[in-house]
Amino acid sequence: MTESTGLRFVIDTDVCVGHGRCYTLGPQWFDCDDLGYGTVRDVVIGEGERAKAADVAAACPEGAIILVEASLVEAPATGEPSPAQPG
Ligand code: SF4
Repeated sequence: MTESTGLRFVIDTDVCVGHGRCYTLGPQWFDCDDLGYGTVRDVVIGEGERAKAADVAAACPEGAIILVEASLVEAPATGEPSPAQPG
């Protein structure tokens, strides 16, 4: 069993349409690419940030944002959407 080390965001790039709510509401966790699609910053969400992180994920109109245990996904490449898309 892997020890929990926090959460990371994953964006389902097949679903994201670039509303921009993620990087507007959570600029510490998200950025955008040149076309306005959300990208995930290389940041692990701490215990004290989970409620806000869940609120930001829920604010995506497309349901494209997923919160997963950090130990289950690789850190996203800088400026790129996360490559890991569970489900
Ligand atoms: S809020 Fe959702 S649809 Fe909009 S850019 Fe972020 S992930 Fe994509």
